[in-house]
Amino acid sequence: MNRKIVILGAGESGTGAAVLAKKQGFGVWLSDSGTIKEKYKNVLSHHEIAFEEGRHSEVEILDADEVIISPGIPLTIPLVQKIKAKGIPVISEIEFAARFTLARKICITGSNGKTTTTLLIYHILKNAGFKVGLAGNVGDSFAMQVATHEYDWYVLEISSFQLDSMFSFKADIAILTNITPDHLDRYAYNFENYINSKFRITRNQTAEDAFIYCLDDEESAAGVRIRDLKARIFTTAFQSGNNSANAICSGNKITINTNNNPFTMTLEELALQGKHNVYNSMAASVATNLLGVRKESIRQSLGAFENVPHRLEYVACIHGIDFINDSKATNVNSVWYALETIETPVIWIAGGVDKGNIYTKLEKLVEQKVKAIICLGVDNSKIIEFFSDKVVAIYETQSAEQAVLTAYSIGKKGDTVLLSPACASYDLFENYEERGNKFKQAVRDL
Ligand code: ADP
Repeated sequence: MNRKIVILGAGESGTGAAVLAKKQGFGVWLSDSGTIKEKYKNVLSHHEIAFEEGRHSEVEILDADEVIISPGIPLTIPLVQKIKAKGIPVISEIEFAARFTLARKICITGSNGKTTTTLLIYHILKNAGFKVGLAGNVGDSFAMQVATHEYDWYVLEISSFQLDSMFSFKADIAILTNITPDHLDRYAYNFENYINSKFRITRNQTAEDAFIYCLDDEESAAGVRIRDLKARIFTTAFQSGNNSANAICSGNKITINTNNNPFTMTLEELALQGKHNVYNSMAASVATNLLGVRKESIRQSLGAFENVPHRLEYVACIHGIDFINDSKATNVNSVWYALETIETPVIWIAGGVDKGNIYTKLEKLVEQKVKAIICLGVDNSKIIEFFSDKVVAIYETQSAEQAVLTAYSIGKKGDTVLLSPACASYDLFENYEERGNKFKQAVRDL
């Protein structure tokens, strides 16, 4: 009898895992407690995969040999506890897919900068002629690509939720962009749990592998100090004193040195601006340099990269007011970088679903730069409570149109209206993309 794989959740990763499992000859059953999107239902039907929606049938699920869990489902729910109590392994889609490919993997995790760094690396490798796939949290799932493509390399964006259910998986090159509080609601409000989860990216690595992290990031540096990491370690940093790192930013240039053959680039050459993107570009340069991509090629690719939507994306200038869409800023740290980068007075649109935010780190920047806060969320009490004595004007709105109109009505020439919510979007929107798109549309309609 063939082994039975049960998949919980029919999003991008669950559907991909189902297709790969079916292709590999397993018995496959997929269960989603919500409504499955039409496009995924079509894929499942096309591959003759049995599924249910709107419920979880325990009899079917507890009969599994192995369960693949979607990252959106917390491991703490009773159903998962029951599965584990029965001794059935619960794994992530990434763990599962890695069993069926010999391709080598560059894996990026961190609190912020994952997608940008992932796309930068993919762009550099593709331009350099690598047979490379892009997967994980960006684009098609890893499992679907393993089911349908043959690549030598994968660049994988991996969230902490995926990492939590990875056991035998090994990254050939692992990158930790940074660690700041995020998703604490999923980690029993314990930052340490979240840090441990991020460091799972180094699990199973050997001296043949590489681990890249940011020396300036306190939590990453502290985490490295207390762990016995086996991989070769490479670092990125801004110059301070005479610290040494494999990629270092000093003045207006960055120097990359992984193999005693250093090369430099000026910050003006980089397509992505802002201090956070200097870190992302340095990590991408180190990773691709380690793979032997030539410096001219790295330089050219980093110069020609096109910005990713919803990350400090410039939308328009209307009557002298700049509008910036940073809808993907769903935690406090990414907002910090947004506020740090902007040099004009800011009308800050923030709010949504709070993930355990602590706003103290923003206090100084907000006092210096923010002239008004426009809350865009159902429950704005936390933001109002924290900032009411720090910012003169706070407004509450419940749609992107209302938020943009309010911002526009109080904005003056030279101001910047910044959508950088620090929160998840699903109280008012389907996801951060919808939030960003509605914001952009509302700006264009002004
Ligand atoms: P992730 O995939 O980790 O969420 P993204 O690249 O999508 O990261 O960027 C998410 C948000 O974080 C955006 O607002 C972006 O401007 C900001 N950001 C990008 N890189 C960094 C970084 N290295 N440090 C802090 N913030 C960053």
